[in-house]
Amino acid sequence: MYDFAIIGGGIVGLATGAALGRRYPFARILLVEKEAGFAQHQTGRNSGVIHSGIYYKPGSLKAEMAQAGNQSLRAFCYEYGVPFDVCGKLIVATTPEEIPALEGIFDRSLKNGVPALRLRPEEVKEIEPHVACLAAIRVPTTGIVDYRQVCHALVHEMQQQGGELKLGTEILQVVPTPLGHLLETTWGSLETRFLINCAGLHSDRVARLGGMEPQAMIVPFRGEYFELTPQRRHLVRHLIYPVPNPAFPFLGVHFTRMMDGSIHAGPNAVLSFKREGYKKSDFSLRDFTEVMTYPGFWKLTSRYYQEGFQEMFRSWSKAAFTRSLQRLVPEIRAEDLIPSKSGVRAQALLRDGNMVDDFLVMEGTNSLHVCNAPSPAATASLEIAKRIVSKVPRPGRLSLVKRA
Ligand SMILES: Cc1cc2nc3c(=O)[nH]c(=O)nc-3n(C[C@H](O)[C@H](O)[C@H](O)COP(=O)(O)OP(=O)(O)OC[C@H]3O[C@@H](n4cnc5c(N)ncnc54)[C@H](O)[C@@H]3O)c2cc1C
Repeated sequence: MYDFAIIGGGIVGLATGAALGRRYPFARILLVEKEAGFAQHQTGRNSGVIHSGIYYKPGSLKAEMAQAGNQSLRAFCYEYGVPFDVCGKLIVATTPEEIPALEGIFDRSLKNGVPALRLRPEEVKEIEPHVACLAAIRVPTTGIVDYRQVCHALVHEMQQQGGELKLGTEILQVVPTPLGHLLETTWGSLETRFLINCAGLHSDRVARLGGMEPQAMIVPFRGEYFELTPQRRHLVRHLIYPVPNPAFPFLGVHFTRMMDGSIHAGPNAVLSFKREGYKKSDFSLRDFTEVMTYPGFWKLTSRYYQEGFQEMFRSWSKAAFTRSLQRLVPEIRAEDLIPSKSGVRAQALLRDGNMVDDFLVMEGTNSLHVCNAPSPAATASLEIAKRIVSKVPRPGRLSLVKRA
């Protein structure tokens, strides 16, 4: 009988396991991951940015936790010897119409307490000589890290604390018991007093297995990247972002320097026909049917069909992708871009067609379910973990907990 079982070996699950081990050193903690390695999905396929928290609605969990997470993640990396680089980022307005939205982001920086500087085009040239813009904001606290390495450090910490980690173990059924839950896995049954669902792209399904009725469904949005050829990496020094469309939770295709020195361009945001579908041709009948029969998807589509088609077109047309990047760095040419690996975002969508904007953790009977942890959840992972630990009962009291 475990005290805590965590489902999902992405950064949120691993950070939660490590935080529980720190708080309750004598608890029996188990983490199960269906893949043969950790961080195989969103966490290992993201842009590697340590966000600052500048964009998010003041007072939201995203705003609060991205900013605190930026600090705590850097401190964790420093302690565990994980390389990171606080290189700062630029958000650039390239048309007069974007300037009010850029000003809006600057206002948010003040409200959220995120340091930011307004820059004129000639000042931008000193930082990024190949960028063309009308105005920009520099955010000095944004950084980069390889989140797979952060996960290695978290796995190491959990192991040091005596936590158990099982790879290649998928949770198939969750059966409530008087003392907690019985988990049916691909390797047999396990018992736990408390269950924590950090299953990312499958978090809604795991929540349903656990007897919850999440109000939102996970809709998978693939983010495709190109990489600059090594000869053209000099065109981008740090991180260059456009002014995002305020209607979307995605930031628009941008340039990111990765920890290995490569420069990634992307990600776009297209509906994926499979939850873990990293190729355009990937298709799952179950995943596709679920999305197509979900009223929320059609309400979203009726509102944003133009943007959706543009994203799909850009996904198939390298020329269109290149044009989006040329708005930021005009010297980029199609032949400078080579396809790179993609990621799929788990975005919770409500039945009314609205995307769940903030992080969402639902409480069940002897269980907690992380039902929406999109970007910047990697940045905020240590803070999300602290929040989860503050909500779980002390191990000795677990069997007494009952919630509606
Ligand atoms: C393209 C892209 C770019 C992004 N860029 C950034 C960025 O630059 N900065 C940032 O902060 N955030 C970024 N994000 C967001 C960030 O990567 C995610 O918010 C974060 O990784 C979520 O972590 P997670 O642990 O919740 O999910 P995941 O990493 O997806 O982990 C969930 C795990 O659960 C496992 N699992 C699922 N079902 C089961 C089951 N039944 N049994 C056992 N295991 C199961 C899965 O195999 C998986 O490993 C980006 C995301 C994407 C997709």
